[in-house]
Amino acid sequence: MIREFEGIVVSETPYSESSKIINILTKDQGVIGVMAKGAKRIKSPLRVATERFTLGIFSVYYHKDKLSTLVSADIINPLLNIKTDIVKIGYLTYIVELAHQTAKQNDDEHIYAILKSAILKIEEGKDPMVITNILELKMLDYLGVGIDLDKCIKCGSKTNILTISGDEGGYICSDCRTNELIYSDKTIKMFRLYYYVDINSITDLKISEEVTHNIDKILTDYYERFTGLYLKSKEFLKSVAK
Ligand SMILES: [Zn+2]
Repeated sequence: MIREFEGIVVSETPYSESSKIINILTKDQGVIGVMAKGAKRIKSPLRVATERFTLGIFSVYYHKDKLSTLVSADIINPLLNIKTDIVKIGYLTYIVELAHQTAKQNDDEHIYAILKSAILKIEEGKDPMVITNILELKMLDYLGVGIDLDKCIKCGSKTNILTISGDEGGYICSDCRTNELIYSDKTIKMFRLYYYVDINSITDLKISEEVTHNIDKILTDYYERFTGLYLKSKEFLKSVAK
């Protein structure tokens, strides 16, 4: 049976002399494995469309829970702006790896939707760190370690929220604060907005550098402490940021 899947190629592995096996994170069927026959050949129409990070529509002979076979592929967006910028490639690599790891733990369809909208916003030219942080914050729910943005992590108080701590894992109220860094009101408010914003609706990002860097720091600390994920692509991003 031939089926069409929208998705993104998350990995490609050579197979025999001329073929490769690709994994596609799909819109609604989780990750599927697909044999792309002849796709390593220079003249193959499948060669470019089966490269890692291709966002496309893939027609496959579908075998549930088994390797499917690729029939044809159409690229949705060639991501030319991202692919000509080494820093943006770094962000792309990281968010695809993160979404892939998240999808392995949770088959929620929102994971692909969030990833796709984030990629397209970075391609449009929006700040890749901000878009990446928004995606990171949203992924936490699907990783089972979402941040409660309504109350103090220590006592549950909904008032007098003073700061937020990536190490402690949430908001800290003024009664519970010991030695946590105090972040500005703007940082706390923007953090909440990152969580609730629909990435597709982002048109203009006017956020101070101080706020964006604070949020990046909070999320980096939180990921290290609570997600159990170690992604090489994140280490690359950290080195670029310096
Ligand atoms: Zn408290």
